[in-house]
Amino acid sequence: MKTNEKKKILIVEDEKNIAELLAVNLMLAGYAYEVAYDGEDGLNKALGGEFDLILLDIMLPKMNGFEVCTRIRRRLSTPIIMVTAREEEKDKILGLDTGADDYVTKPYSFNELLARIKSNIRRSAGELIAAAPEEEENHTLSVRGLVIDTARYAVELNGEPIELTKKEYDLLCFLVSNLGRPYSREELLEQVWGYEGFYGDIRTVDVTVSRLRAKIEADTSRPEYLFNKRGVGYYIK
Ligand code: CA
Repeated sequence: MKTNEKKKILIVEDEKNIAELLAVNLMLAGYAYEVAYDGEDGLNKALGGEFDLILLDIMLPKMNGFEVCTRIRRRLSTPIIMVTAREEEKDKILGLDTGADDYVTKPYSFNELLARIKSNIRRSAGELIAAAPEEEENHTLSVRGLVIDTARYAVELNGEPIELTKKEYDLLCFLVSNLGRPYSREELLEQVWGYEGFYGDIRTVDVTVSRLRAKIEADTSRPEYLFNKRGVGYYIK
């Protein structure tokens, strides 16, 4: 990934005023962008273009944002920030496994959105590839039957491959790299999501943890890998 190249953002938003305002602000902040005004067009553009991040509204004509997100995730790991109209809507989304990396509630300040865009792009797969260790180094992290191949972003559980979203993968790698040390939700937001202080919502951590557990634990009520030390935080042992 060339660092001097402008990062390209896909804006999927049916309200023309909002889309235009976003586009202008992104341009001023040094980003390239494309706009899609409905879900179908958004999906086609997302699958056809090479975007560094997708801003996805939920209430969209032709296909809603949940559907668009789920379909993009079948093919691409591009970071997706979902834009919700209300807090209550956000609660609903947090319960759905659409594969989005982040959520922003309207009305948001552009600075807040920009902080999230930056941190999600920074943590996207492309950057990880660039930072991956040299060929001869060991690319494997493991805890018993759980094996992470950091060169291929592949995770196996007892020899069976498991599919993780970007954030589930990042969280798993972080906790496995710091075995036994519990991290609070605030610390995880900072370390794994890259948020400073108030930009993050700690429920995002809980939701990601519970999805990760559902994928790596045989019985989520009796975890063997991912534990929660009450009042302290999450850890893997
Ligand atoms: Ca809308």
